[in-house]
Amino acid sequence: MSASNGRHYLAIPGPSAIPDEVLRAMHRPGPNIYGQPQGDLQAGLLADLKKVARTTQHAAMYIANGHGTWEAALANVLACGDRVLVLATGRFAHGWATMARQLGIETEVIDFGLRSPVDLQRVSDALAADVNHRYKAVLAVHVDTATSVRNDIRGLRDVIDSANHPGLLMVDCIASLGCDPFETDALGVDVMVAACQKGLMTPPGLGFVFFSERAAQVRAQMRLVSSYWDWTKRCSPDEFYEYFCGTPPTHLLYGLRVALDIILEEGMEAVWERHELLARGIHAAVEAWGAKGPMELNITNPEHRSCAVTAVRIGAPQGTQLRDWLSEQAGVTLGIGLGMADRSDPEWHGFFRIGHMGHVNRQMVMGVLGSIDTGLKTLGIEHGNGALDAASVALAGKHSV
Ligand SMILES: *Cc1c(COP(=O)(O)O)cnc(C)c1O
Repeated sequence: MSASNGRHYLAIPGPSAIPDEVLRAMHRPGPNIYGQPQGDLQAGLLADLKKVARTTQHAAMYIANGHGTWEAALANVLACGDRVLVLATGRFAHGWATMARQLGIETEVIDFGLRSPVDLQRVSDALAADVNHRYKAVLAVHVDTATSVRNDIRGLRDVIDSANHPGLLMVDCIASLGCDPFETDALGVDVMVAACQKGLMTPPGLGFVFFSERAAQVRAQMRLVSSYWDWTKRCSPDEFYEYFCGTPPTHLLYGLRVALDIILEEGMEAVWERHELLARGIHAAVEAWGAKGPMELNITNPEHRSCAVTAVRIGAPQGTQLRDWLSEQAGVTLGIGLGMADRSDPEWHGFFRIGHMGHVNRQMVMGVLGSIDTGLKTLGIEHGNGALDAASVALAGKHSV
């Protein structure tokens, strides 16, 4: 017998759970893509995306996943031979840097390891050493989904300003937008990239680049920009056919429309608060399990933990055993390791991640935690007691007595 029939919960850090209303919005015949309603839809989406990103400056949509937005962002403000400083706290900044190198951009990578946020002092030193201002940009990831570390983007902005460094601040918020608080304009971020399939609760396929007036001016000075990635024409959403450089992703746009309605109706502050509450419940449970046996949160300092995803160390092969048991016996799929590339590495089997981004509530979190607790007991993996009690107390939040 397997007790996994019933609604499956994909608790990986993206693609995230899709609301039924979003799915239903896509279940309809295709529109005339040459009609004004298409342009109006695009204009409304862009306006609301800016509200979610807390910017009044520029935004562009692409038919792309997160990797596409990395290339879009790079292609608009950097050219072959330019140099950037990349701050790596897991897997994703390395991915962005690799993409930059393949565009002929020189990358200076500072690697802060898998368990720590960006060390601002080291960034300050690197910027001070760059006396000729060779770095045209600083690339950072707000929440690294592999390690679940959250970086201090305000601190990073301050360090760049104190160094009087003219480089653009470019931030990957693919995991964090709509989960961890982020205010693009207030943080002085020049280029921010995001995608639709994590906090924004829409099936994968739409990518977004938000950019400041300063970044727009840098783009204006570029000698050549790939016509597909050029964000200039993507600032005129009522150009209904040209906007997407061809056929628009019609049904993803219908889905995104409803997803943004859900988010804005809840309100950004409430969305952030909900994610923080749910994350605290998960962290409390893992800490209780970890009181005995091999389990441990990858990020030990609570201040540096993301509200969107939690990476857990459990030792090999228990990570894979637990993930397999949950998907086969409980109807829950957890995320794989710390973004380690090599499955043949025994260490690969020593981690799991819980995605808690977007369309998630208390019962889903308690369901995942309860299933993990059952898995630990069934598999005989040593763990501390009281994890579900600890989660309940944390999830009671300010209503607790
Ligand atoms: C998911 C993710 C990406 C990659 O997005 P894809 O849509 O898979 O290309 C990049 N950066 C971060 C922080 C992510 O969470």
